[in-house]
Formats: sequence, structure tokens, C-alpha cells
Amino acid sequence: MAISFDLSGKGALVTGANTGIGQAIAVALAEAGADVAVAGRSEPTETLQLIEATRRKAVNIRADLGSIEPVQRVVDEALAELGRIDILVNNAGIIRRADLLDFSEEDWDAVNDTNLKSLFFLSQAAARHMVQRGASGQSNGKIINIASLLTFQGGIRVPSYAAAKSGVGGVTKAMANELAPKAVQVNAIAPGYISTNNTAALRSDEERSRQILDRIPTGRWGKPEDIAGAAVFLASPASDYVTGHILAVDGGWLAR
Ligand code: NAP
Repeated sequence: MAISFDLSGKGALVTGANTGIGQAIAVALAEAGADVAVAGRSEPTETLQLIEATRRKAVNIRADLGSIEPVQRVVDEALAELGRIDILVNNAGIIRRADLLDFSEEDWDAVNDTNLKSLFFLSQAAARHMVQRGASGQSNGKIINIASLLTFQGGIRVPSYAAAKSGVGGVTKAMANELAPKAVQVNAIAPGYISTNNTAALRSDEERSRQILDRIPTGRWGKPEDIAGAAVFLASPASDYVTGHILAVDGGWLAR
């Protein structure tokens, strides 16, 4: 039996794909054969061009996922353009840094609403479609959530991010349990320290950057492309018996 990482004929929806990890995942899914809709609040011009360069369909859906107001529209537009959603990647996320004693309610709510609440309700809307459509062999759909090392650890000066990403680990398992009998697999990827906008402040702080690098066994910051292979695996038939898993792609950080 050949193991298949082929995504030909599949429709994928990726949130927050104008930059960073989301862009790398969207392009990798297209390279593996999927048509890809990207949903976000900024213009994803470069991502759309990179997807089109693979000769797959690229769809742009404008949506601010800081609230759950647009989630049903995002699913409806993706379905109208792609005809199907086989793969949802919940990647959009923000981080707010402040000392714990000064941490504001605004920074708490913004991070939890974007990183956790929208992730759950967008997954719910996509899963309803996947379950209703049904019957395409071993899998009716794949949901991939972008978690974090702070799904497992507390971090420093990022309490709302640690809470939200720990929640992402919890809802990944909760969704996996209920959706497994309906042949929808739900997994998460926990990226390590990746060179993107999200970590710009850390990388420009010489001392924190050195402390972080010293702890990464691989000895370098990750690149967005380092996450893409795990996403293709979790989107593909090769992972049909994998569900409820949080896959760390961290250069060995958690092993240390
Ligand atoms: P990034 O380049 O800042 O990407 C974040 C993406 O989320 C951007 O496309 C951003 O769009 C989008 N986004 C943020 N708020 C949104 C909103 N309200 N509505 C729609 N889209 C929104 O950083 P990244 O590192 O690639 O982050 C991607 C994911 O990986 C996040 O969930 C992050 O928490 C996670 N992560 C990153 C690291 C790391 O080391 N970099 C580690 C662990 C986990 P805009 O450009 O409009 O802001």
C-alpha cells in the first residue's frame, strides 16, 4: 500500500496566511495539490501569487478573526469558491507582551478571542460541513490547529497567550474525541521559536535571543517552512489514524 501525502482535489482553508507560518503552510498545501482559500484581515497578495505559481486555485477571503462574527461567512465563501473544505488550518494568532502585574483585560480578551474562541467556532462551522458531506473513505476532513510551546509551558510576560495556546491543546483533544467517530481528524502543531513577526521583539532583544538559542538543541531559530511538512502530513491520508495529537516542531526545545 502506497502512503499518500497527495492533496490533489482537496480544498483547504488557512487563516492568517499573508505572512509567516500561515503563508508557508498555505503554499505547501498547494504544492501538495490542494486548492487553497486564505482568510485574514490583511491583503495576502504574495501568498496568492505563490499559490497560483503552483497552478492551484487561490481564493482570498477578508475577515477579522478578532471576533467570531465572520466565521460562518468565511466557511460559506470558501465553499462557494472551492466547492469543498477538506482541510482547515487555524493559524491566525496574536501575542501581547506585558508584565503579569500590569496585564490588561484588553490584552487578555484580544488574545483569547483571536487565538482560541475564533479557532473553536471556525472549526465548528467547518466540521459541520465536513460531517454533513461525509463519506470520502477514511477521512471526511482534517482540522489542524497551530498551538505553541506555551501549550505546554508558561512563558514569560505572555499570560493570555499561554492561556489561549493551552486552551488550543485542550480543544484540539476535545474536538478530536467527538469528531473521530465522524471521520474528521483534529490535530495541532506546536511550533518552536520561529523567525516571524510574532517573535520580532524577542529576536531584537539580544539577551532573550541568546537565552532562547542556547536552549534549542538544533541551535537555530526555525523558519516558517520548517512547519510546512508537518502540516502537509496532518492534512494528508498518511495521517488518517492520527487524531488528538499535538506535534511539536521545535528543533528539540521540549526534549531539553
Ligand atoms: P505572523 O506572521 O504575525 O502571523 C500571524 C497571522 O495571523 C497573520 O497573518 C495575521 O494577520 C493573522 N491575524 C492576526 N490577528 C488576526 C485577526 N484578528 N484576523 C485575521 N487574521 C489575524 O506570526 P506567525 O509566527 O506566523 O504566527 C502564526 C501562528 O503561529 C500564530 O497562531 C502564532 O501564535 C503561532 N506560533 C508562532 C510561533 C513563532 O515562533 N513564530 C511559535 C508558536 C506558535 P495580520 O498580518 O493582519 O496581523
